[in-house]
Amino acid sequence: MRSLLYSFLLLISPFTLHSKHKVTIIGTGYVGLVSGACLAEFGNDVLCCDVDEYKIHLLSNGEIPIYEPGLKELVHRNPNIAFSSNVAEAIQKNDIVLICVGTSLSNSGEADLSALYSAAKLIGENLNKPKTVYIKSTVPLGTVKKVKSTIQRYNKNSTDFAIAYLPEFLREGSAVQDFIQPDRIVIGTESKEIQKQISEILTPLREQNIPFLFTKIESAEAIKLVANSFLAVKISFINEIANLCDQTGADIFEVAKGIGSDNRIGNKCLNPGPGYGGSCFPKDIQAILNNAQEFGVNLKVITAAVEANHFQTKVVIEKLKNTLQTPLKGKTIGILGLAFKANTDDVRNSPALQIVSELLAMGVKIQAYDPQAMLNAKKVHPQLNYCKTSYEVAKNADALMILTEWEEFSQLDWVQMHNSMKQAHLIDARNILPLDKLLKLGFKHTGIGRPFEKKFQD
Ligand code: NAD
Repeated sequence: MRSLLYSFLLLISPFTLHSKHKVTIIGTGYVGLVSGACLAEFGNDVLCCDVDEYKIHLLSNGEIPIYEPGLKELVHRNPNIAFSSNVAEAIQKNDIVLICVGTSLSNSGEADLSALYSAAKLIGENLNKPKTVYIKSTVPLGTVKKVKSTIQRYNKNSTDFAIAYLPEFLREGSAVQDFIQPDRIVIGTESKEIQKQISEILTPLREQNIPFLFTKIESAEAIKLVANSFLAVKISFINEIANLCDQTGADIFEVAKGIGSDNRIGNKCLNPGPGYGGSCFPKDIQAILNNAQEFGVNLKVITAAVEANHFQTKVVIEKLKNTLQTPLKGKTIGILGLAFKANTDDVRNSPALQIVSELLAMGVKIQAYDPQAMLNAKKVHPQLNYCKTSYEVAKNADALMILTEWEEFSQLDWVQMHNSMKQAHLIDARNILPLDKLLKLGFKHTGIGRPFEKKFQD
């Protein structure tokens, strides 16, 4: 994946002098920093700002506060990206502003849009010249209009400004690649000037013939939430089918390949696992469900997908109980993978951490390893025994669970792993290991939807 990424970066370099806009990015997290680095790579002058002074301090000293493949190289090779913790000054500096602040869920299950409105207020107060504001943060339906009113309310001199919605579709773990080679760009605006401006800012994407879909603001808001809801439904669907395969003897790999070869279904998002997580899916799906409730519409399919997702962590824990066949209290369980998916250090709503919480509540002793996510996991579960390697995790463990699909787990010396364990029980909740090889090594091994013994009775 990496070499592909770098060859693509080299490929787009000759285009980088075409467009040169000056852009301020508010919020320098996974989306803001990746957007900033890629827009700089496209030839724009970028100023990334954030209220988190420590983050800006790190970035100003060449350190990257998050793990994302290819990001460090991109930031280091572009001198036209700068960082500031003075958000007001950063807004004043440029006439294009992208809002990339977090829009998390509050404890009551409502969207917490306080960071978004606080950025909007600050933009209103600092409209020293006409500006275009692009919202990149994911928002509940109808929010862009409210952000516009907020900016207007604090715009005491009635300076001209325009607003557009530019939803982001990048995935953590392949965020740079996704940004520079997206399937499509969606822009909620009916203004011809904004359409021209964004086409210039994203010149290399235009030149690659990436489709630019200009829509009403309301449609762009819906596209983002509906896309994530659809993917969540697809994941919950394949997880349920995998659970069925576990009972019938069918192999989910074969089933997924068989159905995915139908173009109407497509072969993506058909890997079963411990359920979806991350900072986006649970929040965005809750946002659309809340919106639907406000409008009196019952989104039954999406509601069922959420329910199935909650159930999936229980399925994984049940597999552990069935394998060990003794109460879990006092057992030592090795956990491989804590991030919500591979190639990221992000543990927000990670199914791995959900499973860890439930095991801890049962009195299980946990030793864990993740290649990138242990610092973040420690903030949630400081009491785990964090190990330096996967081999350390295996030592004297009663069972191992693979909860994140890091490639390095499939390349371990599984003979050595087997020899270190107290009992060779293995739950591969990501289906990354070859079943037959592990069975030959003597593991009692369970995947998701990959049964070995149960078959239909004739
Ligand atoms: P993040 O938490 O990594 O980053 C948000 C940043 O905004 C933080 O650094 C925070 O300090 C900063 N911030 C908060 N309030 C601020 C303010 N008033 N002024 C300046 N900075 C402020 O979040 P993220 O993962 O980058 O997500 C940002 C948005 O993009 C969310 O709405 C999210 O749903 C959406 N999104 C995320 C992804 C993803 O994969 N992470 C993908 C697509 C869309």
